[in-house]
Amino acid sequence: MLRKCDYYHYHQNIFQLMIAQIRKMTEADIKQGLRIVLNKIEEACSRRTPELQATNPQLVAVSKTKPVNLIVAAYEEGQRHFGENYVQELEEKANNSIILEKCSDIKWHFIGHLQSNKVNKVLCLPNVHMIQTVDSQKLAATLNKNWPKFRSSDAKLNIMIQVNTSEEEEKNGISPDQVCDMTKFVLNECSNLHLAGLMTIGRFGYDPTDGPNPDFVTLKRCRDDVCQSQGVDWKNIGLSMGMSDDFEHAVELGSTNVRVGSSIFGYRVKKK
Ligand SMILES: *Cc1c(COP(=O)(O)O)cnc(C)c1O
Repeated sequence: MLRKCDYYHYHQNIFQLMIAQIRKMTEADIKQGLRIVLNKIEEACSRRTPELQATNPQLVAVSKTKPVNLIVAAYEEGQRHFGENYVQELEEKANNSIILEKCSDIKWHFIGHLQSNKVNKVLCLPNVHMIQTVDSQKLAATLNKNWPKFRSSDAKLNIMIQVNTSEEEEKNGISPDQVCDMTKFVLNECSNLHLAGLMTIGRFGYDPTDGPNPDFVTLKRCRDDVCQSQGVDWKNIGLSMGMSDDFEHAVELGSTNVRVGSSIFGYRVKKK
């Protein structure tokens, strides 16, 4: 059954798609899109259980395929955290002279698949803030070993462990039953890394009117297991879950980090 608000979302998404196809998104569209998303996050927060109110979700604006002027527009509106999922595109944007000049406090999140042989290309970039997609001990070990060559202070590199909660073969991420071993490895063997949380992409097209999204429930259960086995406070392990179609639902279920692209920047032409 569709709720009234679903009709609203549906029509709003269709509407956004239409304007994006008719004309290019402008800086003003981006600023408005950002404000709408931030408002929805705040509203979703107020629907959370009292226990979950303890953490405030962070918005990562996913700017992949989008031009520099639109990133600057979102930055001017107060947005600081941005996500990219291709190494080469992140290299171009992080080193872009306009971004460096106008967005000096930008915080880049890498959210794509990272091969160990590309690690240095990402670690050397200005304002790299977090790698959300660490999906093997080998990658964690490489990041840990190489980070000291690039960091400017003795700050640790923020990482998240990507979990393939839907256990789909084509998805990256470790399986939920490997999460405790992997976190143990990061916490004990990777002194240059700061474990910021767990991340999932999840199954595409889940309808939240069917109940809590099983991917989000699984990620939360992984966190419970980690906290119990490693003796860490759950408030110190974030949950990166929720994208344009389901970020409000994810926030209601305890997401601490939503990654939202098209709801801010408009429809994306798929890369081949
Ligand atoms: C592209 C992407 C997003 C954002 O997707 P939207 O549906 O446009 O919000 C979030 N997370 C990852 C890992 C992505 O690659």
